[in-house]
Amino acid sequence: MSRSSYQVRAYSVKHSYDISEFLEAYRLILQRAIDEIWDNIRWIEKFNRKGRRRLIPIIPKGNGFKHHYLRSLLMDGWRYSKHYVDSAIKQAYSIIKSWRRSHLKGERSREKPIVKRRFIRIKETLYSFRDGKIKVSVKPYEEHLEFDVSRAWFWSRVPKDAEMGELILNEKHLTITFRFKQKMKKRCEGRIAWDCNERSLDGFNPKLGWIRVDLSQLFHIHRAYELKRKRLQSLASKKPSLRRILAKYSRRERNRAIDFLHKITTFLSSEFKDYIHGFERLEKRRMLSKSKNHNRNIAKSNWKTIITLMGYKADVKILNPYNSTKRCSRCGMVNTPKGALYECKRCGLRIDRQLNGAINLYLKMEGLTPSPRPFNELMRAWSGFTLTGEEADEGFDELVRAPRLMSPKSYAMFIKDYIAQNPRCWYICGLTKSSTSLSTYSCGCTKTVCWLWNGN
Ligand SMILES: [Zn+2]
Repeated sequence: MSRSSYQVRAYSVKHSYDISEFLEAYRLILQRAIDEIWDNIRWIEKFNRKGRRRLIPIIPKGNGFKHHYLRSLLMDGWRYSKHYVDSAIKQAYSIIKSWRRSHLKGERSREKPIVKRRFIRIKETLYSFRDGKIKVSVKPYEEHLEFDVSRAWFWSRVPKDAEMGELILNEKHLTITFRFKQKMKKRCEGRIAWDCNERSLDGFNPKLGWIRVDLSQLFHIHRAYELKRKRLQSLASKKPSLRRILAKYSRRERNRAIDFLHKITTFLSSEFKDYIHGFERLEKRRMLSKSKNHNRNIAKSNWKTIITLMGYKADVKILNPYNSTKRCSRCGMVNTPKGALYECKRCGLRIDRQLNGAINLYLKMEGLTPSPRPFNELMRAWSGFTLTGEEADEGFDELVRAPRLMSPKSYAMFIKDYIAQNPRCWYICGLTKSSTSLSTYSCGCTKTVCWLWNGN
């Protein structure tokens, strides 16, 4: 998603060849290459600053190993074209290297990578394209596959100057990649920074204000199928036929979630056209804690998919999330927020936690550091936005409506005065009662909620 001068697009077409034998043979030599490299890894002992012992894997790279030993080993008994052996070696190396990278970071254990999927990558030089037909050799002078793509659906979408790149072949599809020069930089309207949360996506831009996208529907999709599967899971061990139903549920869950995400991202990219969207780089793995429920909720989230899909539809910038939830967006103090309200111990800012995160990300996007002056500038001139596209009511009543996509005013600044003027329990009973505490509001219905959430 970083800006490069080339852009790659991939399109796939269905084919009707039965190539499962060929694919399986390729998978096996790929695995064999991985096994062989794995067995020749040297483990070197190293000590870190604290004196703790670590084993560092050294991958065999020598020409003698790679091009003579390994190649002749794999060539033995290989019935298909020779170049597949070379690409298997190349692919095996890239798999092992990526394993090593994550192993050194502590993300993967010392476990050999296993190839499960059956697919072949075919380099540009290993196929021919003439008169709308792609010819891929399988066995030299004996067998080849021909794909007629002259009338394929995607030609209208491929730019004229595009070059055909690598092909990816699997049991049902042939995926064709195209590479082309990126066009001139588009007009940039502004930047929006998005803070990803379990149930909402909180965007911030000084002109647009706070844009909250409700993701609770997505959460419900995952939750509903989780419960559905739970009922069957214990039975499935006794009755194998139920496993197919479980798989069906998983497929439906994924499809429904992807559908939802496509709708949301299409909407965002068209509504905020020519904006650059900033997202934090999130690693689910790093967010896991000891709480089972928390971990399950994290696992349900689709943040990475949102970022990927947005990347197709708009300009996306990936941001470093370091301290974005902890730092005060006004004075820069690092606090440890608890609950939905962010309170700064130094400057006394009271703000929705997610909005604070979004503002911090926005500042990062603009290359600014938190300081009171820009904060106050940012807070001036808000305007509203709703899912239906209508202008939001800028009054506090906006909060009473079900927030789908909206931009509430920066009520954090005025909350104190507002509570004093008309305290009211929006959450449950709608009663009016004066409140004593600032961060929470308790009412006759005994519901105690955070003021800033009183209304959601
Ligand atoms: Zn502060």
